[in-house]
Amino acid sequence: CKVENSGNSYGFYQSSMNEDVAVRVEMERHLRSALQNNELYLHYQPIFGSDDRRLLGAEVLVRWRSEELGFVGPDNFIPLAEQTGLIVEIGHWILKTACTQGRKWLDEGLKDFYLAVNISPRQLRHQDFIYLLKSVLDETGFPAQALVLELTEGLLVKKDSGTAQVLDDLKALGVMLSMDDFGTGYSSLAYLKMFPFDVIKIDRSFVRDLAVDASDQQLIVAAIEMAKALGLKVVAEGVETAQQLHFLRDAGCYSVQGYYLSKPIDPMLFSERIVEKELAERLVML
Ligand code: C2E
Ligand code: MG
Ligand code: MG
Ligand code: MG
Repeated sequence: CKVENSGNSYGFYQSSMNEDVAVRVEMERHLRSALQNNELYLHYQPIFGSDDRRLLGAEVLVRWRSEELGFVGPDNFIPLAEQTGLIVEIGHWILKTACTQGRKWLDEGLKDFYLAVNISPRQLRHQDFIYLLKSVLDETGFPAQALVLELTEGLLVKKDSGTAQVLDDLKALGVMLSMDDFGTGYSSLAYLKMFPFDVIKIDRSFVRDLAVDASDQQLIVAAIEMAKALGLKVVAEGVETAQQLHFLRDAGCYSVQGYYLSKPIDPMLFSERIVEKELAERLVML
C-alpha cells in the first residue's frame, strides 16, 4: 500500500505489503500523539425528520488533521486505532467532548435532541467501557436517554455472551443502541433478534442508487417494514438528493441524514446554522 498525497489528504492504495507496514507504523506513531497535540476534533452531522425536517439529533464524526500527514479520514485511522488499542483512549475523548457539546446545546434550549456516537468493537469490549461511559455522563450532565451508540455488525460476529451482557447493561443505563451500516453485513437480521437494538441505520450504499435501482428500492421498503414490525426506528444515511429524500419519506423512513440536508460540520457552524434555526422554528410553532 502506498500513500498518495492528493491535495492534503492521505488515501490508501493496494500495493506491496512492505510499504503497507511502513505506512501503518508511521501513521501509528503520529496517531499516538494526536490527542496530546490536539489534532483530533469532532464534526456533527444533523439528522432530521423526513417529514417535517425537524432536527432530531446529530451524528458525531471524528476528524484528524495531523501536523505531519495532513488530513487523514476516519476510514483510515479508526481501524488502526482499533488494531493498536488506541481507540480506547480516543473513544473516551470523543464521548467526553461530544457529551460536553451536547449538554451545551440542551442548555441552549434544544429539547428532544440526541447525539449518535460511533463506538468501535474494541472500545465496547473493553472491561471499563460501561464505567467510563457512566463517568462521562455524570461529569458532563448529558442524559443517557439522549445518547445513541452506533455499533457495527463487526462487533457482534463474536458470539460471546460478554457482548450480550454489555449491551444489556447499556440498555439498563438508558442509552439507545443503533445498528450502523444496516444491510451490509451477513447477519443483520439474526443480530436484531439477538440483541436489544432500538434503531437501524440503513447504509448509504442502499440509498445511493435508489433512483435507478428497483431492487434497492424494494430492499429499503422491506427494511422499513421489518423495522416497524419490530418496533425499531429507522435512519437512512447518505441522502444526497431531494428525490432520495422523498422516496424515503414516502416509504415511511422516520429520519434522514446526508449531504442533501447538511454535511458534517464543526460545532460552531452547527450552532449557527442548525441549532439557532431549529430553536427559532420551534418558537414559531409554540
Ligand atoms: P459511518 O458511521 O457509517 O458514518 C457515516 C459516513 O458517511 C461519514 O463518513 C459521513 O461523513 C458520511 N456521509 C454522511 N452523509 C453523506 C452523504 O450524503 N454522502 C456520502 N457519500 N457520505 C456521507 P466519515 O465521517 O468519513 O466516517 C467514516 C466512518 O468512520 C464512519 O462511518 C464510522 O464507521 C467511522 N467513524 C467516524 N467517526 C468515528 C468515531 O468517532 N468513532 C468511531 N469508532 N468510528 C468513527
Ligand atoms: Mg455511524
Ligand atoms: Mg453508518
Ligand atoms: Mg455507512
